[in-house]
Amino acid sequence: MSSISVAVVGRPNVGKSTLFNALAGSRIAIEADSPGATRDRVLYPLTIEGRTFDLVDTGGIGIVDSQKLEKQVERQITLAIEAADLLVFLVDSRDGITPLDREVAERLRRSGKKVLLTASKVDTQRIEDNLPSFHALGFGDALPVSAKQNRGIYDLEEAILALLPPEAPNAFGAGEGGEQLTKIALVGRRNVGKSTFINQISGTERVIVSDTPGTTRDSLDIAIRSDQGDFVLIDTAGLRKRGQMDDSLEFFGHMRTERAIRRADAVILMLDAMEEIGKVDKRIASFKTISHNSRLRA
Ligand code: GDP
Repeated sequence: MSSISVAVVGRPNVGKSTLFNALAGSRIAIEADSPGATRDRVLYPLTIEGRTFDLVDTGGIGIVDSQKLEKQVERQITLAIEAADLLVFLVDSRDGITPLDREVAERLRRSGKKVLLTASKVDTQRIEDNLPSFHALGFGDALPVSAKQNRGIYDLEEAILALLPPEAPNAFGAGEGGEQLTKIALVGRRNVGKSTFINQISGTERVIVSDTPGTTRDSLDIAIRSDQGDFVLIDTAGLRKRGQMDDSLEFFGHMRTERAIRRADAVILMLDAMEEIGKVDKRIASFKTISHNSRLRA
């Protein structure tokens, strides 16, 4: 079961990060982190009107002249585009179409993904006069927004929701009558024994592993059929690397764990009985859930 991903793409300085923050800002369910981290962040799980998806910021990556792209950067952009279900293509309403916009447009067209053309920095009504020119990019009307003035953000959210693919069915396929399997997230710091636990279950129950691993879609949903009933185990094991844990949780590990908890009906927080409860354990325990019937058990 992979989550839905919406990526904000465009050339540098069109306002991707600012827009990303405007969309993510009020909805980040996790407690505020240390300042300065935003630049490195590329993904936030968002819930708008009951739909949850990952908002991916390519702002730190940008799309620059392809001649100047380093391989690694290029790869990241490609991954973000490939992983996305919807691309919010941001252009700057003040600049009109630039050659780089055309290049980005071409690339997005080639991706075959759904593209939502959005014009940034429409701080005043007057700037809207520039919008028809963006038709030439071939993605229809540009949706005007101003992240700074908080204009058009609601409309953009509605447009995103309208273009999202249908909710992913669970690993057993959509249950008849829309029945959803209970989801149990398995969280805990590295090496507490999550994998062993899963292997144990795998040995005794019929386990179906779904989802594709990857840098941003890395939570693993394991559908388990048992005599007592079927359920889905959301595995968050093995992501965090030693040495990257100093600043509480390494970013993707943090996101992944947080998202797993948000999606879950119940959470198993696994602790190492041989060790003291540490900072990371406490941090995980403090994550908020969104499901009303969620409960945290250690
Ligand atoms: P990115 O490189 O595409 O991520 O662009 P940034 O988000 O870093 O923004 C580039 C510049 O545009 C910054 O100076 C922002 O303050 C400015 N900017 C972003 N959104 C708006 C907006 O809605 N109105 C105005 N006037 N400026 C904006």
